[in-house]
Amino acid sequence: MYNPKSLKAEEFISHEEVLETLEYAKANCRNAELIDRILEKAKLRKGLSHREAAVLLDCQIPEKNQEIYALAEQIKKDFYGNRIVLFAPLYLSNYCVNGCVYCPYHQKNKHIARKKLTQEEVAREVAALEDMGHKRLAIEAGEDPVNNPIDYILECIKTIYSTKHNNGSIRRVNVNIAATTVENYRKLKAAGIGTYILFQETYHKESYERLHPIGPKHNYTYHTEAMDRAMEGGIDDVGIGVLFGLELYRYEFAALLMHAEHLEAVHGVGPHTISVPRIRRADDIDPDVFDNGIDDDTFAKIVACIRVAVPYTGMIISTRESKACREKVLHLGVSQISGGSHTSVGGYCEPEPAGESSEQFDVSDKRPLDEVVNWLMQMGYIPSFCTACYRAGRTGDRFMSLCKSGQIQNCCLPNALMTLKEYLQDYASPDTRTVGKKLIEAQIPNIPSEKMRELVRQNLVNIENGQRDFRV
Ligand code: SF4
Ligand code: SF4
Repeated sequence: MYNPKSLKAEEFISHEEVLETLEYAKANCRNAELIDRILEKAKLRKGLSHREAAVLLDCQIPEKNQEIYALAEQIKKDFYGNRIVLFAPLYLSNYCVNGCVYCPYHQKNKHIARKKLTQEEVAREVAALEDMGHKRLAIEAGEDPVNNPIDYILECIKTIYSTKHNNGSIRRVNVNIAATTVENYRKLKAAGIGTYILFQETYHKESYERLHPIGPKHNYTYHTEAMDRAMEGGIDDVGIGVLFGLELYRYEFAALLMHAEHLEAVHGVGPHTISVPRIRRADDIDPDVFDNGIDDDTFAKIVACIRVAVPYTGMIISTRESKACREKVLHLGVSQISGGSHTSVGGYCEPEPAGESSEQFDVSDKRPLDEVVNWLMQMGYIPSFCTACYRAGRTGDRFMSLCKSGQIQNCCLPNALMTLKEYLQDYASPDTRTVGKKLIEAQIPNIPSEKMRELVRQNLVNIENGQRDFRV
């Protein structure tokens, strides 16, 4: 029985409801009148239900599809402007007791190099990331109660926040670790994490159990209800996502939005971010054996429909996607991307010896951060290293209400410009610095309030004079 307010996984992600939604979307894929009504509702920027969004995703009328893309682009502009927030993943350990068949860290993979960073190594990796210019990390670790217990994760977070190299500092640590207990979520909250990220991989229970044959992650219910426990533990910014390619994308899309509706219905706040990874090649993993892969056009449509359905939720794509694909979807609604990423344990400091690999997946976009920053600016985007909100206590429903009222816009652009200025001063190549300086000058007049413009101008001078970490 479908019930978004239920705390039972099988009720808030009801299989029957997903199937009925897909039937409904299929039956209405050429229903111009209904699609128009849904688009009119979407223009109010208050979001759509999973059923409505599923109809847009299935829409087979070319002109209406153009309207969907145009609306996604407009919503992205209205809420996120032309800013793109940058982050990097940091792999702490690839020891894992689970058996996820799409991940090279699965327990039965005996030829992958297993590594776990010591605290000294964490500090070295962090210094290397700071030297690139990163301020925001997402830490990743396999599930292994012996090698990677919660205390190890907490210690790493402490090391990350306390490692300051030259002018560098990591100001926000997002955490992507296995589903855990309320008590552990409380500990993560107390450690000052930003977002807790956990991908569902697939919402299709039967497939989920087949794809996770062993280990604690086999338990669909425990995994699917993790965000409720995280919120109970005080973490109010959570990031959800699926791994596209494992199951039928329409199924995942509807269920992902049902999960967002559930969080909103129960906790009064939807997910902070949605990630849209696609399965990639890796040691021991051939993506071609999964028959549900999606092409770039379908991927773009998914991104556009998510943007229209949940306008206030940030959307993330990683370096799993190529430069060309990232270019294609950025304007449709993506608000955060990773850059200069290494997906191996210890990969920022030391390249892996020949024949040894601890990567979780092949990085498709291998460009260094400076190139990514330059590329974004050449396309008219403002690369942002902002981490202001959670540091100012703007999280959860407080953050969402600022988003919904549009007030957050008064913070995002000034913060983007000030953090970009820091990047240009400390890390940019001469060419990137030249492009960036012009971009900042051109963007200052777009800050709506005169008072804020003045403050930003003053802080830009302060940054040139060596001061750091300004935020509003
Ligand atoms: S996806 Fe995560 S839990 Fe699964 S094998 Fe890989 S590291 Fe372990
Ligand atoms: S001000 Fe808040 S919402 Fe805007 S970019 Fe910074 S952290 Fe994100």
